[in-house]
Amino acid sequence: MAKGALSVDTEHLFPIIKKWLYSEKDIFIREVVSNACDAITKHKRLISLGETEDDSTAYKITISTDKDERTITVCDNGIGMNIDEVERYINNIALSGAVEFISKYEGESSGGIIGHFGLGFYSMFIVAEKVEMFTRSYKGGEGVHWTCDTDGNFESEPTQIDTHGTKIVMHVSDDELAYLDNEKLKSILERYCAFMPYDIALVNGSEETVINDTNPLWQRNPSDVTDEEYDEFYKKVFNDYENPLFKLHIVADYPLNFKGVIFIPKRKSGLDPTESEFKLFYNSVFVADNIKGACPEHLVNFKGVLDCPELPLNVSRSYLQNDAYVRKVASHISKKVADKLNSLFNNDRENLEKNWRDMKPYFEYACLRDEKFGDRARNSILFELADGSFKTVTEYLGGKEEGTIYYTTDKESQSYYLGLFAEKGQEVFIFDNIIDNSFAQYIESKNDKIKFRRIDSGFEENEADNNEALTSLFKTAISREDLEIKFAMLGENGAAALISLPEESRRFADMMRMYSMNSGNNDAFKMPTGEVLTINTDNPIIKKIENSENKEDLAKHIYLSALLLSRTLTTDEANEFVRLNNKLL
Ligand code: ADP
Repeated sequence: MAKGALSVDTEHLFPIIKKWLYSEKDIFIREVVSNACDAITKHKRLISLGETEDDSTAYKITISTDKDERTITVCDNGIGMNIDEVERYINNIALSGAVEFISKYEGESSGGIIGHFGLGFYSMFIVAEKVEMFTRSYKGGEGVHWTCDTDGNFESEPTQIDTHGTKIVMHVSDDELAYLDNEKLKSILERYCAFMPYDIALVNGSEETVINDTNPLWQRNPSDVTDEEYDEFYKKVFNDYENPLFKLHIVADYPLNFKGVIFIPKRKSGLDPTESEFKLFYNSVFVADNIKGACPEHLVNFKGVLDCPELPLNVSRSYLQNDAYVRKVASHISKKVADKLNSLFNNDRENLEKNWRDMKPYFEYACLRDEKFGDRARNSILFELADGSFKTVTEYLGGKEEGTIYYTTDKESQSYYLGLFAEKGQEVFIFDNIIDNSFAQYIESKNDKIKFRRIDSGFEENEADNNEALTSLFKTAISREDLEIKFAMLGENGAAALISLPEESRRFADMMRMYSMNSGNNDAFKMPTGEVLTINTDNPIIKKIENSENKEDLAKHIYLSALLLSRTLTTDEANEFVRLNNKLL
């Protein structure tokens, strides 16, 4: 029987493992199970190299608990160890400087510390007061029974074991008995081990439940994965009941080496940076959720899994957030998302248009927030037209890079104006989200020959028709100093007059409204608006109005009717409208 103490430093180390690793205690399971996976991978590899015989092992890792004995047991049928290997790999843990390092980084996440020193094995002492290991090498020979207590004192003795592999028995300490609960263990396994490469079975009595998917979708060849499989994978991993709007499978090998699947969920909640969720894996072993930096910030609401085998398994969050490699991954993802949008636009437009209404805000936002993304993707941004079809800015302009684009922000309340455009056969973009306006300004900023105008921003004036008498009639009747009077030919059957607000004034007013909402100062609402009343010189009533007896009442009625076509009337306006109706009719 061999006896020993791990090293002078372990005396200090074990309490420190317990203390500093407290915040992420659950990871001890990941460490033990991933060691078991590694041991199996090594065995497989030795077979493929012809260094050991293929004994048709059905590789498996089992995890069981015994409430009476207060133990958690993890078994694998991997490579196993002989006494020399236990001495080399387990007893001689590289502790030099570890304690010093741990004290230095005491504020850091535990994952980082464990990984730096290959202390994964000893993370079991987070919950165990004693660990036993039964192991036998694939090379045969005697098995080893090794025991270590929480002070770092170990013993090992030969024992009879029939097959290769390792069984680890953790004797759970008094204050961690909660880990003996199968449901708790299951949920931890599902979090950290859901995609590990060999069957992981949780044993409950005589029942074994395999908790993992050994062939995660991102490790497969994208051309072998069906749409339905992506949808199912998304729903399962991100706990959603609806299919995603967009999916992208990335297999990058050089110069970056990572795999990932990126989704846009179907959400009505709008742009919400807190919705973004990226899960980070290392060779199918779960590392962390929501690593800031791995998800490009401008891809709001996107979700994804990333498998980065070039990162060390045990890296801390703060390390990842500042890591140049992670930033490169993020920028590669951004490029691929833009490319995918362009490829859908060019090759699968019908399908793109199906979900486009829901997807558009995310892509517009990304264009606005990230210069490079915008330059790549903006020509694939589609807008819906009043007839339900979709066009890009360039398509609207007939292939030209200049011209005016008309839009409506509300098909209902702007329906009269919409009708005027329909009559002329002129197309109108539908803006249904505030971000459409910002996107329009972004396009204008990229090309000053393109202008966006709301459909009620003005009419083609007819200066020849300027009529001073009519102007003063309307000015007196309406008594609104701020209202400008203009003239245009808007058709014999058209309204007698229409209200418009020049685009620039509207944008300024919108800005002021936003500003006053933010500052809680509502005075900005009462500012002069810059509204225009355009008199339709084609209209028969206008032609006769000057010779009518009650021309001021008529002018006021025409004004109120024009208001009614542009917005809801105020109570005073509505009362006046009713009074005039009664009088005139
Ligand atoms: P790491 O896995 O980072 O090398 P660990 O402390 O987790 O560090 O494990 C130390 C070593 O112990 C491993 O590299 C491996 O050689 C050996 N080992 C641990 N668990 C097993 C196991 N289940 N089967 C065979 N060898 C193991």
